[in-house]
Amino acid sequence: MSNAIIVGSEGQDGRLLFDRLVGDDWNVIGIGRQSIRDSSGRESGRIDIRDQAAVFDLVSIASPDAVFYLPAVHQSSEGAQAQDDAALLRRSWEVHVSGLVHFLEAIANPGNGSLFYASSSLVFGDPDRTPQNEATPIRPGNIYAITKAAGMNLCRYYRTHRRVRASSGILFNHESPLRGQSFVSQKIARGVAAIRAGHQRQLVLGNLEAEVDWGYAPDYVDAMVRISALPVGDDYVIATGKAHTVQEFAAIAFAHAGLEWRDHVVEDGNLLTGKYHSRVGDARRLRDATGWKPSVTFADMVRRLVDAAAFQ
Ligand code: NAP
Repeated sequence: MSNAIIVGSEGQDGRLLFDRLVGDDWNVIGIGRQSIRDSSGRESGRIDIRDQAAVFDLVSIASPDAVFYLPAVHQSSEGAQAQDDAALLRRSWEVHVSGLVHFLEAIANPGNGSLFYASSSLVFGDPDRTPQNEATPIRPGNIYAITKAAGMNLCRYYRTHRRVRASSGILFNHESPLRGQSFVSQKIARGVAAIRAGHQRQLVLGNLEAEVDWGYAPDYVDAMVRISALPVGDDYVIATGKAHTVQEFAAIAFAHAGLEWRDHVVEDGNLLTGKYHSRVGDARRLRDATGWKPSVTFADMVRRLVDAAAFQ
């Protein structure tokens, strides 16, 4: 039986990954912000990932074959905007960088086990080429992406200089019913469900023309597992390679509920919190290394989200 630590285990990907690994017979320790749980169902008090000694103790007890480092301080394109960049940088640095280094150090000592780091397509900022791959210049345009890029660089450093099997997944958007409510996929899916149930008439969206490379989160978790099993660490784009507009998303979602999107959707650019840049990923390196490919089409994913929202 293999041992895993999932940091950020109560988020969308953390919950999907926890269930996936338990289903594959792994011993799993999940670290949430408030508590720790394991695959035998035990829950215990929290561990602060900013505390290096606490992380060392945990790693020496758990002896992980794989660490999945997924915690995040988020800024969604249509969520509330942080006012204070300095405070946001401090919080993001602690979660995306300092905590990561504590785990990299802890697994560098025993010298075995892999670490998967969840980076983001936002590290490409406003890219000058499409699609983006692992060779695309890193030009992060916000605090979230700046700190994710720093995390990726640290994984490279530990891989090159400390022989740690550390990989970064450059994750493009991926969705499931567990996705945070401020993200546009959930705004649409839940909005459609509420309109269909007669609870509201309109759905206000920020930018219908925005193009997004959207995938299905269980597929992306599968990519994480495949990457962590590789004998050598590297950076991998995880993406479908296909962009769809917010309008396409809404049209499929409303049609699935027997509704016409034009009767309900209102566009309001004031909702947007930053300049929008289209990004589409090229996951060829990942496919060549692991055989990974998406298992669910865009339209099927949208329909699954709408079905799930009807029961939330
Ligand atoms: P998510 O749902 O926001 O999950 C992140 C989790 O990390 C949350 O449960 C959060 O708890 C937790 N967390 C924050 N600080 C923590 C700390 N100090 N200790 C323990 N847990 C902490 O994000 P996700 O969608 O699962 O994404 C997983 C990773 O992939 C993230 O790193 C994200 O940046 C990256 N990513 C995701 C996407 C996507 O489309 N989903 C795209 C690009 C990159 P709270 O909720 O209490 O803050």
